[in-house]
Amino acid sequence: MSWELVAGLETHIELSTKTKIFCQCTTEFGGEPNTHCCPVCIGLPGTLPKLNKAVVEYAVKAGLATNCKIRNISKMDRKNYVYPDLPKAYQISQYDKPLCEGGFITLSSGKNINITRIHIEEDAGKLVHQRGDTYIDYNRGGVPLIEIVSEPDIRSIDEAVEYIEKLRLIMKYIGVSDVKMQEGSLRCDVNISVRKNGAEAFGTRAEIKNMNSLNFIAKAMEYEFNRQIDILESGGKIVQETRRYNSDLNITESMRGKEDADDYRYFRDPDLVTISVTDKEIENYKSNLPELPREKMRRFTEEYGLPHDDTELLIKYKKIAEYFEKASKSVENKKTVSNFMLSQIFRRLSTEEEKEECNISIPPQYLNELVILVENKKLTSNMARNALEQMIDTGKPVMEFVSESDMEGIDEEALRSICEKAVAANEKAVSEYLKGKEKAIGSIIGFIMKETKGKADAALATEIVKQLIKQ
Ligand code: ADP
Ligand code: MG
Ligand code: ZN
Repeated sequence: MSWELVAGLETHIELSTKTKIFCQCTTEFGGEPNTHCCPVCIGLPGTLPKLNKAVVEYAVKAGLATNCKIRNISKMDRKNYVYPDLPKAYQISQYDKPLCEGGFITLSSGKNINITRIHIEEDAGKLVHQRGDTYIDYNRGGVPLIEIVSEPDIRSIDEAVEYIEKLRLIMKYIGVSDVKMQEGSLRCDVNISVRKNGAEAFGTRAEIKNMNSLNFIAKAMEYEFNRQIDILESGGKIVQETRRYNSDLNITESMRGKEDADDYRYFRDPDLVTISVTDKEIENYKSNLPELPREKMRRFTEEYGLPHDDTELLIKYKKIAEYFEKASKSVENKKTVSNFMLSQIFRRLSTEEEKEECNISIPPQYLNELVILVENKKLTSNMARNALEQMIDTGKPVMEFVSESDMEGIDEEALRSICEKAVAANEKAVSEYLKGKEKAIGSIIGFIMKETKGKADAALATEIVKQLIKQ
């Protein structure tokens, strides 16, 4: 019997506004516990929240960038529950009138994952378990969040991961969040069920709460998928429940069942005024959105003629994409720039953070100068590669490493005589080549490169050597 996975994601993203959603405290990550707090965000009686306008702006941008419709009039609601991370015993969120609705994200397969809604809310504090005690840090309390709820459109672990990656990249491009999963500024609840292949009705779902690693999400989904199948195949029933992923054991385990299902007694927060976003404001936010990943993707492939795979790697990091654009200014064949970046430059950026930060020792102009020299046939690609290594090592421009004479090149006549010398000096390679070993020609070209200090045009040299051997 084969089973299909069905998943829908609730993604929480911390917004990078300077101050919290209802007070003036900083949203900065970390800090000594309970130092980013005030009477409002620790919920002292008598305090009044005041909505941070930037939160609405950021959320509207997130909605527009994910193809949502924006609600002109919305409000904040109280979601009541008692837990020590929530000092007021309610979270201020949005219930029946979310700010954004009905969007989608397109996966690389062309399939859309629909977005039901995006609403704004406040984050809770953090429980810290130490030395057998539990402490509470309210620094995170009141940090603005958007919750992005997807439709149950996801059908595989790969789709779930790609959806999150795409969402992450969009939020990064529009600058509303740093979306650092390891710091918890992007966290997912994964709702998952299974059904028989071809079945129409959805199965009963389990919700795996609060995950902040793509790797764990993939593992938890895999485990949960198999767990549900095992239960159904042995005649059991899935119960709707909330589960958590235990990364030590690589299992999901039950947190709470349906019997104590959430009843949040939502009602409008009487302390906060109606939120109004006019069409004019929406238009304004829309026209000020930066170029989004999907648009950059289209431009790099269609206008620059880059292969899909190159583009995907270049746009994955916003700053890398910007670096590439600067380095390829007035370059005819952009693929040359992309080649240097994806091989030599990427090799030096070993961690994700270094790529994220585009930690390259030379400015894009230097790479641009190098590529222009290659394009004007002043430098062979071999020489350019060598120069680039030294440029990256030292942070200096190309002219520090090539001389005028290097750039004179070698005319065909001179190259031909070096080739003749090379063929004469490499009898063994010649006979191997004649026996059909294509690769043997490499050592002859190596000889020529050594002789010419890398100045020879490798393609031309190969052609000449082949002619000479066949004679
Ligand atoms: P709740 O508020 O109880 O979490 P929602 O109706 O808002 O419930 O759904 C939350 C998430 O669960 C959504 O992302 C939705 O796509 C997903 N979902 C709903 N039904 C299923 C199902 N049968 N299988 C998998 N995911 C589901
Ligand atoms: Mg839920
Ligand atoms: Zn505060």
